[in-house]
Amino acid sequence: MKRKFLAAALAACVVGVSGQGLAKDVVVSEKARALQASAINLDTHLDTPALFGQPGWKITDRHSFQGDGSQIDYPRMVEGGLDGGFWVVYTGQGPLDQMGKLKARDFGLKRLGEIREMVAANPDKFELATVAGDAARIKAEGKKSVYISMENAYPLSHDPTLLSYYYKAGLRMLSLVHGSHNDFADSAGTAPGAVTAREGLTEKGRQMIIEANKLGIILDHSHASPAVFDQMIALSKAPIILSHSGAWDVYPHPRNLDDKRLKVLAAHGGVIQVNSLGGYLIDTGATPEYRAELGKIYQSFGGRRGLDADARKQAMAQIAALDAKYKIKKANFDDYMRHLLHIIKVAGWEHVGLGADWDGGGGVAGYEDITALPKVVQALLDAGYKDEQVRAILGGNTVRLIEQVQSLADPAAVKAALE
Ligand SMILES: [Zn+2]
Repeated sequence: MKRKFLAAALAACVVGVSGQGLAKDVVVSEKARALQASAINLDTHLDTPALFGQPGWKITDRHSFQGDGSQIDYPRMVEGGLDGGFWVVYTGQGPLDQMGKLKARDFGLKRLGEIREMVAANPDKFELATVAGDAARIKAEGKKSVYISMENAYPLSHDPTLLSYYYKAGLRMLSLVHGSHNDFADSAGTAPGAVTAREGLTEKGRQMIIEANKLGIILDHSHASPAVFDQMIALSKAPIILSHSGAWDVYPHPRNLDDKRLKVLAAHGGVIQVNSLGGYLIDTGATPEYRAELGKIYQSFGGRRGLDADARKQAMAQIAALDAKYKIKKANFDDYMRHLLHIIKVAGWEHVGLGADWDGGGGVAGYEDITALPKVVQALLDAGYKDEQVRAILGGNTVRLIEQVQSLADPAAVKAALE
């Protein structure tokens, strides 16, 4: 979810000044660094493609979170030890009329193109990944893997058969819905005005699940309602993922999954990748009045997208003042680990991974960008997890899921899509 990009960017600034909410410092040991180097480190929800079209922003430059709010680029991936992940074609939900659907179709194709162009422009640093084995091979070749996912199937709403085009272009993970309901599924309902409890999946959503199964595209439940989870589990022939979600039993936010469903997910072979978006981790104390004022700040900059570095800085400063005024509480690294460790305990370490929502609103005090990834390795070791368990959480479980979902695909459908 990238709508909170700037708000999250600001969090660290405020914390840095006031010192509130700081977690105890994690010192990363040599053992943790060596263990991480031996693992395949994948994050399953990288919203960084939203920055690809922004003027002057280059993935090969080193940026800083304090400087422009961004959290991923090639130099910082190297420093943090991230080997790649799923790079998202994210589309905000708009009107479900013909014009809205056509605009979403065009937007999705543009974003897909930008991801592929980024890879093509940096062949010594990035490579498109489509099968499970690619992650290890690309790492061994000293590059970063780029699996492609879609967050919100809105771009497929006008013409669902576009899915096979996306598949051919590299799409290997798909979520149906984002912050408000659409014609595929119900949302967890975090957008203003959204309500839950419709029918869960629509018939169009069910068809999309069947088609995704045939192509070996992983189905992603993040942002969908609990009813959609139950129906997706019942309908999907393959295990599913939650590419960036948290634990309801740690903090009851609609975007989080409850313990009962965590166990069902694991029993069906699925994986949940833990999100670091502060508002999902703790009660930040954000009120409707605060949100309204935040919206006004974004409006004054002409929206949240496409801001150049100067405008981003100005917006971050204004949001910092707003957060101070409303005494917004900031989640920290300990809060993130509380969700991660709880989920590991409930779902089992074979069913958990990392999907921090970098460049999409993720990141908390002490875990502001991808350079902080080694802290998670250390924290897992400190919590008593063994090397093989840590490696599974860092990416092994995701690789296993890709393999498993693709092994359950329909070879004839895959062949037809690739022709
Ligand atoms: Zn999201």
